[in-house]
Amino acid sequence: MPNEKISLAHGAGGALMMRLIKEIVLKELSLKRAGKIGLDELDDGATFTVGGKTLVLTTDGHTVNPIFFPGGDIGRLAVAGTVNDLAVMGARPLAIACAVVLEEGFPVEALRKICRSIDATSKEVGVPVIAGDTKVMERGALDKVIITTTGVGVANPIISDSGLKPGDKIIITGTIGDHGVAILAHREGIDIEANLRSDVAPIWRTIEVALKVGGITAMKDPTRGGVAAALNEMASKAKVGVALDEAKLPINPTVRGASEMLGIDPLQITNEGKAILAVKPDYCKKVLRTVRKTKYGKEACVIGEVTSDRICEVVMETMVGGHRVIESPIGDPAPRIC
Ligand code: MG
Repeated sequence: MPNEKISLAHGAGGALMMRLIKEIVLKELSLKRAGKIGLDELDDGATFTVGGKTLVLTTDGHTVNPIFFPGGDIGRLAVAGTVNDLAVMGARPLAIACAVVLEEGFPVEALRKICRSIDATSKEVGVPVIAGDTKVMERGALDKVIITTTGVGVANPIISDSGLKPGDKIIITGTIGDHGVAILAHREGIDIEANLRSDVAPIWRTIEVALKVGGITAMKDPTRGGVAAALNEMASKAKVGVALDEAKLPINPTVRGASEMLGIDPLQITNEGKAILAVKPDYCKKVLRTVRKTKYGKEACVIGEVTSDRICEVVMETMVGGHRVIESPIGDPAPRIC
């Protein structure tokens, strides 16, 4: 390890990134907790308490390439990414801070376009951007722009990503793989890109109605590493198994087609407008019905359930009746997609 250098795979959300965080970041930082959920939980956000209220804090750096892509741009992504991390903790977003690092030579009009997109996305969920920072680095020192957003939300109750119980149903709020596949196809110049669009969206309203129904035991947004990484993390933390049903996975035919051409698995690809919900069986139908009435939850469906066997594993029943272990990706088939 002493001479090891950072590779792109270290930022991919898979097993390599996890090792880097555990062996370097978590080991070197001593003060990691201000409330019930701290940095070492590696959840979507952490908590602290003020005046009897539980607040959630989360932060996210955005390096997507290209910065304008089918279905969105780095501005919408920066707001949605942070809003969604708060939402899956059960937290209503209250405010966002935004730090922008620009490369010398970056067009001012492109920055204006990004700001308008940040504004439109923040207005969509009614969460203001109340603090910011702007820095410029010399040409070549970074690629165009990096945006880091930090969000604060208020939760009652907090939903962690580790609360899975055997018997819970696993709901996904919509189609799988859209964001990562759209960007990758766009970058590779694949023809069918006209029909491929990122799903990037702030999904607090969808989560809010689900929370009101109740019965939610855990949530996570399947971003880097996709549904595969998110479910593996959830299963490991709760020490349960997850049984997926391939026939029930909602995957757009164009996403499926492009994934085959690109040689990637939609289950391992970033989503930016979706959440995984683990729901007590008695609440499942009502949660599903309610979520489907929302703008970003129309294609929500049950894709599997939590089991007490195959602990810490995600096993998918395939369409031909076999079983396949779904592993968290080691690296990333597509760097810089979020
Ligand atoms: Mg997350």
